[in-house]
Amino acid sequence: MLRVKLSTIGIFSDQSAAYADRTIVTTALKESEDLTKKVVIVAEDTDVAVLLTALCPADREIFLRKPARANKPEAVYSSRSLSHMPVVEDNILLLHAITGCNTVSGTYYQGKTNFFKTFQNFPDLGDHAAKFKKAGLSSEIIFENGAQLILAMYSAPMLFRKPNIPDKLKWDQLLQTYRCEMYRRTAATGRVNLANILPTVDAIQQHLKRVYFQVQQWLHGYQLTMDPTKWGWRKEGHKLVPVQMEEKPAPKNIMELICCVFKGDCNLNTCRCRKHGLPCNIACKICSTCLNTERYSDENVTVPETEASDEGDIPRMNTSVDKNDQTHLSY
Ligand SMILES: [Zn+2]
Ligand SMILES: [Zn+2]
Repeated sequence: MLRVKLSTIGIFSDQSAAYADRTIVTTALKESEDLTKKVVIVAEDTDVAVLLTALCPADREIFLRKPARANKPEAVYSSRSLSHMPVVEDNILLLHAITGCNTVSGTYYQGKTNFFKTFQNFPDLGDHAAKFKKAGLSSEIIFENGAQLILAMYSAPMLFRKPNIPDKLKWDQLLQTYRCEMYRRTAATGRVNLANILPTVDAIQQHLKRVYFQVQQWLHGYQLTMDPTKWGWRKEGHKLVPVQMEEKPAPKNIMELICCVFKGDCNLNTCRCRKHGLPCNIACKICSTCLNTERYSDENVTVPETEASDEGDIPRMNTSVDKNDQTHLSY
């Protein structure tokens, strides 16, 4: 209806079945081929700004206007806004996805700005990041290269990041060792918050698969032939939901020690067992009307938090969080 109305008053419109952000940017790119035109995108989504930076050729400049909202004034960005940080500009898609965007899980307490600075200071990271732009790589190659980026993001010492034999097993062990090291350090302070330490290897693998899939999707749009169910997503009815982990978060005897002190209906997210995707067990003495045993059995510990997509088939992971309990890769 709206499109018909727009065309009757001479305004061109386009409708995207999926990849709306990409359609916006590629339409702007097409318009900018006429060098007499100044092209301005009006959008609020950071993904659009990131895609514009990545896809706009260096000899052209397109602007993005972000309208004022609540206390924030209007802002205008250029497709060349990051040209003073060329390594970041070259790998902006990977950097945006790996630190968390609308469609990919995020890393708790690891800000984008800090990682962008680290990334600039260690040029070798650019080589690992560049792999994510190549099509047709295996999940093993993605894991090897992504593991080094994740270790750098979590400020792992060079000892962990420059091993002599970089095979898959090695990276598994390095990640596990550094996770243990981070736990020891946080335990020594007496204020343990597991969400702050490096995620489990399993969670990192799933995250990196989704990051690679997302970068490829941004680069290739409708031409992408990758199967999302091989890259960190699984089908649930007509929706795709993220695979948080394939293994249990901890050995069985440890899982049995985890319990809640909830006094109500454990089918609600206010039950901490339920909220973290864990089944209640006999140690949860107080839960009165427990509905959290069957559905979230030992065999099904992943509880994706998703919301309906506004871009066709592509689901959006709900990363809206409160300060105390952010959606996180590890539990
Ligand atoms: Zn419980
Ligand atoms: Zn319960």
